[in-house]
Amino acid sequence: MRYYTNQRVSRMWTAYLKYRYNCPNTVLISQVKDLANEPAIGSQTKPFSEVRIFRSELDFIARCILDCPDIETGGQLFGYWTREGVPMVCYALGPGPNANHQRTFFNQDLSYLRSIGDAIVKHYGLEHIGEWHSHHQLGLAQPSGHDASNIYGNMIKASRERFLLCIGNYDGQSASLNAFSFTAGVSSYNQTGWTVSPVESPYRSAIDRSMRAFIHQPHTTDARIKDLKMYSL
Ligand SMILES: [Zn+2]
Repeated sequence: MRYYTNQRVSRMWTAYLKYRYNCPNTVLISQVKDLANEPAIGSQTKPFSEVRIFRSELDFIARCILDCPDIETGGQLFGYWTREGVPMVCYALGPGPNANHQRTFFNQDLSYLRSIGDAIVKHYGLEHIGEWHSHHQLGLAQPSGHDASNIYGNMIKASRERFLLCIGNYDGQSASLNAFSFTAGVSSYNQTGWTVSPVESPYRSAIDRSMRAFIHQPHTTDARIKDLKMYSL
């Protein structure tokens, strides 16, 4: 309850929300070109080829995907970047109770995201490092053109050097999840490989417990997931 009443949202977070959810859909092709032609914001910024995640968070996303076999669903990814620029996913947030799930798009419940996301950032020290959403059975295991434009546009607006986008699918039995690296100054995204830490994230139980009344949990209990592209050197 203590966290839920804290409604103050950081300026970066507010800016991110504004551009993620309020920007016109048509923004971004020209901005994508601009981004591609600009030098990277950080001179050391390179595309990442590995994504690290705790098994509990992979399972959580899979259960959310399995909840929605023929409509999109999604959420946000919280964690940190290692010194080498590798994202570590420590906590996956799913759809809020008022999220808009449609066959070909998904919009997060903004009130839910503000409340929970703000608490995760401020009280647990995690960064918003990425997003995930499901293309369920649409036959698209990668970002759509609209997805890519949105991500690049939002990175420009928020001066983000890198961002992680994960796309889920459902084959009638199991979920799958592909991860993609978006980097400022690089004109195209690339698929990455997973390194899965085979334990529960220490943040999962702590955050779920502290916001038990508000965190939306998937109905599916069995996290059936397959076809993960694993990272290898
Ligand atoms: Zn998409």
